Amino acid sequence: MDKIVSLCRRRGFVFPSSEIYGGLGSAYDYGHYGVLAKNNIKALWLQAMVQERDDIVALDSAIILNPRVWEASGHVTGFTDPLVDCRTCKLRFRADRLEDASCGRRPSKRPGETADCDLTEARQFNLMFKTQVGAVEDSSSVAYLRPETAQGIFVNFKNVLQLARRKPPFGIAQIGKSFRNEITPGNFLFRTREFEQMEMEYFVPPAEAEQWYRYWIDQRFAWYTKYGLREDHLRIRPHEADELAHYARAASDIEYLFPIGWSELEGIADRGDFDLTQHTNASGTKLEFVGEGGERYTPYVVEPAGGPDRTLLAMLIDAYDEEVVAERDRTVLRLHPAVAPVKAAVLPLIPRNADMVEKARGLYDELRKRHFVEYDDGGQIGRRYRRQDEIGTPFAFTIDDQTLEDDTVTVRDRDSLAQERLPIGGVRDWLGEALERPWRTPKA
Ligand code: ATP
Repeated sequence: MDKIVSLCRRRGFVFPSSEIYGGLGSAYDYGHYGVLAKNNIKALWLQAMVQERDDIVALDSAIILNPRVWEASGHVTGFTDPLVDCRTCKLRFRADRLEDASCGRRPSKRPGETADCDLTEARQFNLMFKTQVGAVEDSSSVAYLRPETAQGIFVNFKNVLQLARRKPPFGIAQIGKSFRNEITPGNFLFRTREFEQMEMEYFVPPAEAEQWYRYWIDQRFAWYTKYGLREDHLRIRPHEADELAHYARAASDIEYLFPIGWSELEGIADRGDFDLTQHTNASGTKLEFVGEGGERYTPYVVEPAGGPDRTLLAMLIDAYDEEVVAERDRTVLRLHPAVAPVKAAVLPLIPRNADMVEKARGLYDELRKRHFVEYDDGGQIGRRYRRQDEIGTPFAFTIDDQTLEDDTVTVRDRDSLAQERLPIGGVRDWLGEALERPWRTPKA
């Protein structure tokens, strides 16, 4: 994890937030490459969930909703984690995760490990951030930053059902920020207090819930492997009955083997009719499906819920590689080309050579209309390759002496380091095709 954090800092993927003021624990800002890579992940999710399907539509709901939404959903009373304080080291811990925690003393101890640890009884701590809406500060102005995007979908069920003219099974997909006042955030992007979620609520006839629950577990697992995560670093873990959230009939996590051990990457839950029933009762608006023949029922909901920050972290970890090539160390991010922030680099071999620069600039201008590509004429060619390797750029096109003679360029493959020559006029199409090819990590 330390290597990933340092590469992200060094190459401008992710910075500690408000760093010049000493940071704010577990808050991060995305730099250029981080923005591009995370946007790619979100776009690939939307492509799979909405663009390539007939049965799912998109939504972008507000972050601050009517607070009654969170009363009806059970979050005001139930969205809590058990918290303990240590009177000795003055830190707070999640009571159900003590085995993963370390206390503030040196050498650090697991909370409760020694007789000196003086832990309070566990109490329930609500994870929602409170704020108020409007100029008057009283209990009637209390509102919350959403702790999940899902509720914004449920309260729009009727709008979408009518306007999109859908009938179950159909889904509503949303990507957006969520906020949780996590007791113990940490492990870089894995657990932060402000993060994005990619959630889809799939509304189905109750009798089909079990079948769709299995279907979405398979679909989502396949999505992660398609975009490069190694299959032996992924697993599906069904929740035990005593672990199920208050709304869930069944749930499974897709887990990734993070450096901190197997941990949730995405959760798939069968939420039954809990949410639509709660909002129907609390709002007085019937959230049900009425068929043409007059049959009516409250659909069940199957929900795949993941997050682009955690997904990016898993992809960076999976991609990170170090090797020795020609007696020199090479650090390379073997990201799936669709996820890589920059798709290709254009490099004039000799930056002082005006003809090479002109050709390289011309190619760069042509390619950048379609893809994020980079032009780099700073320093030795080997160093420029290394820089692109570290940000995971899958291809580099080099303009050299031969280009000036026969209008061909070399293309260097990030993973195999193989080089071949291509006519400069064919580079655009070649790159388009290369980026579409199925890709598997060469990492063992
Ligand atoms: P955990 O048990 O790890 O707290 P959860 O089960 O509460 O997670 P969900 O409510 O299922 O998480 O959220 C769905 C997805 O949102 C998670 O799989 C993860 O990708 C993302 N997510 C949730 N909380 C965070 C967080 N604090 N930081 C980053 N991503 C998060």
